[in-house]
Amino acid sequence: MTRYAFAVISTLLLLGACSSSDQNTSTSPVPNAKVDEVISLKLAHGWPTAYPIFGESVEDYKDLVESMSNGRIQLSVDSTNRHKSAFGIFDFVKSGQYDIGQSASYYYGGKDPDALFFSSMPFSMTTQEQWSWFYHGGGLELANEVYDKHNMQVMLGGNTGMQMGGWFRKEINTIDDLKGLKMRIPGFGGKVIAGVGAVPTNIPTGELYQALERGTIDALEWVGPGLDLRMGFHKVAPYYYSGWHEPGTELMYFFNKDSMAKLPEWAKSILLNAAKLTSYNMTTETFAANADNWQTISSQYPDVQIKQFPASVMQALKESNAELIEQEKARSPIAKRIIESREAYLSKARAWTTIGDQLYLESVAD
Ligand code: CA
Repeated sequence: MTRYAFAVISTLLLLGACSSSDQNTSTSPVPNAKVDEVISLKLAHGWPTAYPIFGESVEDYKDLVESMSNGRIQLSVDSTNRHKSAFGIFDFVKSGQYDIGQSASYYYGGKDPDALFFSSMPFSMTTQEQWSWFYHGGGLELANEVYDKHNMQVMLGGNTGMQMGGWFRKEINTIDDLKGLKMRIPGFGGKVIAGVGAVPTNIPTGELYQALERGTIDALEWVGPGLDLRMGFHKVAPYYYSGWHEPGTELMYFFNKDSMAKLPEWAKSILLNAAKLTSYNMTTETFAANADNWQTISSQYPDVQIKQFPASVMQALKESNAELIEQEKARSPIAKRIIESREAYLSKARAWTTIGDQLYLESVAD
């Protein structure tokens, strides 16, 4: 923030402070804020301490919020090492135990089935397409409509880009190879593979390698090379399949609405815009990490084999997905509105992606 901007805000705050003897009931444009007041907020995220990119991006968020507010907002950040609940962020923020949370919306389909629609969907939008839907196609408004009834407001938190289809111990040649296969795969992708006879599960980040190594699961998907390499999955599952189920997964910041209601407008603006900027920063960081680590894998781990699912397997997965989407549309009016919004936007956006990015890549390919 510039010195001038801060001076203006300070003056406004001072005027607000002078206009009322009781800040908590003031009609001032900056209620509940005194010039020298420091706003302290608690944030919980769903990753281990200093977990690369996902957890680090929250530290980035904390730094942005504190610097943009000139220190007048202070965030205390708790990881799963402290709060011990990787999938507890929804309840933490809904109840007000924490003011802010960061996690992935699709981990909370058990809390509200409509939460599944706001991370990524199988066969759906890429990062650019989905960002455009969130910001210019009504997506963020729909997400906030869903979270409003849980006393939360949301903002995008960072995108992984295209996710890989996962690490498999055995090759997948026919749809029968998926039957009975135990796989860590959350969200709608998990429902889709259940539809073809696989057994999806979700497992906290810190337990993934052990589950794969011990055979508790036969396969898993995590993110992409940028985050997968350090997890060591390639040591026990050499087949690395290309993506279909999460073509651009967005993390999310969750804000308790009661906490937000107590804040002055400038503080809310900083919290929301810093989340938006963190989302952008994390997204570029993930792309860079994917490119770096793919270079490492391709040069240093020759046993890793990149695979694509056969066309017949993809067709079966698409059919399972289409069936589930129809069930979801029938489940509730808002599910139908969200799905139709996503489908309409995908259709429009993909037409441009196809003549823009796709034809470019085809034209310049060696
Ligand atoms: Ca994933």
